[in-house]
Amino acid sequence: MHLGAWLGQLCRGLSRPVGRTPQLVRGSLSRRLVLSSRRRIPEFNSFVSRTNTCGELRSSHLGQEVTLCGWIQYRRQNIFLVLRDFHGLVQVIIPQDESSASVKKILCEAPLESVVKVSGTVISRPPGQENPTMPTGEIEIKVKTAELLNACKKLPFEMKDFVKKTEALRLQYRYLDLRSSQMQYNLRLRSEVVMKMREYLCNLHGFVDIETPTLFKRTPGGAKEFLVPSREPGKFYSLPQSPQQFKQLLMVGGLDRYFQVARCYRDEGSKPDRQPEFTQIDIEMSFVDQTGVQSLIEGLLHYSWPSDKDPVVTPFPSMTFAEALSSYGTDKPDTRFGMKIVDVSNVFRKTEIRFLQDALSKPQGTAKAICVPEGVKHIKRKDIESIKQFAADQFNQEVLPIFLKASRNWNSPVAKLVTEDQRLELIRLMEIQEEDVVLLTAGEHKKTCSLLGKLRLQCADLLETKGMVLRDPAQFSFLWVVDFPLFLPKEESPTELESAHHPFTAPHPSDLHLLYTEPEKVRSQHYDLVLNGSEIGGGSIRIHDAQLQQYILATLLKEDVKLLSHLLQALDHGAPPHGGIALGLDRLMCLITGAPSIRDVIAFPKSFRGHDLMSSAPDSVPVEELRPYHIQVSWPTEAEAGKDSLNQPHQQKS
Ligand code: ASP
Repeated sequence: MHLGAWLGQLCRGLSRPVGRTPQLVRGSLSRRLVLSSRRRIPEFNSFVSRTNTCGELRSSHLGQEVTLCGWIQYRRQNIFLVLRDFHGLVQVIIPQDESSASVKKILCEAPLESVVKVSGTVISRPPGQENPTMPTGEIEIKVKTAELLNACKKLPFEMKDFVKKTEALRLQYRYLDLRSSQMQYNLRLRSEVVMKMREYLCNLHGFVDIETPTLFKRTPGGAKEFLVPSREPGKFYSLPQSPQQFKQLLMVGGLDRYFQVARCYRDEGSKPDRQPEFTQIDIEMSFVDQTGVQSLIEGLLHYSWPSDKDPVVTPFPSMTFAEALSSYGTDKPDTRFGMKIVDVSNVFRKTEIRFLQDALSKPQGTAKAICVPEGVKHIKRKDIESIKQFAADQFNQEVLPIFLKASRNWNSPVAKLVTEDQRLELIRLMEIQEEDVVLLTAGEHKKTCSLLGKLRLQCADLLETKGMVLRDPAQFSFLWVVDFPLFLPKEESPTELESAHHPFTAPHPSDLHLLYTEPEKVRSQHYDLVLNGSEIGGGSIRIHDAQLQQYILATLLKEDVKLLSHLLQALDHGAPPHGGIALGLDRLMCLITGAPSIRDVIAFPKSFRGHDLMSSAPDSVPVEELRPYHIQVSWPTEAEAGKDSLNQPHQQKS
């Protein structure tokens, strides 16, 4: 991007690293922050040596003597210099007269991105030289004194291009990346949202902000935890995957409305858009039911929502887990667009198509389909091939594309076996338009739904690359998903059960009796909050009865109850009924800002592999430092170590 254009974007707050939703951001950075604060404008200049921020000066300041501190963004012909701080840009006139030679020397010789302090007068720009793209474009600073606060060494890249650099480089020089308008906007908006959340919870609803330990012990059932060695041989702390036990214990302790901006840790390896440490808005309440928690969260999001976005509409719609799976093939449906999964088994009861016959002859067999709008125009033969390949590789399933006009079926002999009656019945059932394409598959319910759920999203991606807008990024579609099963079959051993949420989740009261006979059929009081197809929160009403908790842990989940004896004991000592939820703050902010990754809303995130590319953590430690922890390491072989050296920050994939 041309420097001038980049500057213009910076001024308007429009520049973003790899953003997909520029239309989300309107107006200048400072204006947006002020607008969304709803309260009085903060005093940005108290306690420091500047009198004003660079971005705040306007014609109304004409004649004022000001002192500004900032980074040198740009210099032109040794006459103009553009100074930047978090608030914006301002043009400074470099004095040319003999008596100001020392000021001129400082301002002309300091490398770009050096930090300087300048004092001078706000004057208007000569007629015709105003810059309407800059909020400060009507004025400039006639400098009297200048001080070089710190010179910037040669940069590892040109700042103006920095936003276009690889993410690994951005993470390696995060302190420079943080100077970009995107990162400034994301982190300041995050702080503002959290502040409003605190205000809503503590000031308006009497919640108490309580910190819970980070050094804890292993919690059975759930995500893998990081271990921290202790000085006692063979004894380890665990970093908690969430403050779940503590928040329940706080209820037993009578702190009946708890919240925390909680740091959580999960050792889940490399997963896109996950971080080994992340932040939750963690909430627990006594004497509450599911509706109470849901209303609280709706109010919280409504209150803390940035005012430059469309307001949050409450109450949020709700969908059962069963419906989410059968209509969208996932427990986190993106409800911004249709293309829902339709059961078409009855249409194909009599068919000559082999894979449909086979599937429908089985007791649990179904035929299901999605209708891709305007697919005739946008889905090419090669797309169909890759859809079929994906279905075969990932799900061992066949997919048959059906076009309304049989002639469009690309001479596929199988497609031609769809009779005219079946075609008409499909049109009726799925409300198909002439230009649409139906993707048909058959098999067991869950598997066909999951496959079509994935194809639904893939087709949405495909249609959007062709210019159709299915998922308006400025739209925020919240959805509660409820009535989850309490247990799911374990992936690695399907005859055993594991908790769908966590083992402290209460069963649905009307399914309690099934707990002792058919536990896999028990629904739970677990609810998830979904936003635009991402899970942004989850919680449950908890078990507050020690016997029931013991039964679920020991008998159904086969967990070692000794690890949780403190919690079981606490439940036996007058534990109130309680429930709660946790919102994933990083993911929420990522969706609000339209950032391409959660790393863009975290000041110092880890790379995809869990590394800090700036400091190279995790790092090895000398053997003697391991001794107090009674730890022996199987040190990497030379070959492995060599491989590791390839993983130096600048080469590392993030
Ligand atoms: N601790 C749970 C989690 O992290 C949330 C909750 O149940 O409140 O998913």
